[in-house]
Amino acid sequence: MRVGIGNDIHRLAEGRNLIIGGVKIPSDKGEVAHSDGDVLIHAIIDAILGATALGDIGALFPDTDEANRGRSSTEMLESVLKLADARIVNIDTIVELEKPKLRNHIDSIRESIAECMGIDKCQISVKAKTAEGIGAIGQVEAIKATAIVLID
Ligand code: MG
Repeated sequence: MRVGIGNDIHRLAEGRNLIIGGVKIPSDKGEVAHSDGDVLIHAIIDAILGATALGDIGALFPDTDEANRGRSSTEMLESVLKLADARIVNIDTIVELEKPKLRNHIDSIRESIAECMGIDKCQISVKAKTAEGIGAIGQVEAIKATAIVLID
């Protein structure tokens, strides 16, 4: 078995879509990014690449490449899964976001990731935290995600 860790942070701005785990969440602000800015999927991608020692998301999908502009992160995850050719045991994640509250969206985010990865919903955990008003996340200027994956 092998374990991998990944994280990601994106700025938030008004007029952008907030995409988390492939799910569009109703929000005044969304991620600023070259791709669709899905921090959770980006963290999962880096965790898989970490477990397989295949590099990182920036090397595979450089933001200097126009082909990656607005690119769907779930599509990037699908291609990383093919590259890694590993069986996912489980994934645990944390999303740090001040607002909106994600509690009512957790299940659909888990379902979305499970479907994208071809795994069971019980293999993917998503936990949401706020930052108690502290720092860039607390001031609703940024969203951060961390993921850890076990493969065999
Ligand atoms: Mg990113």
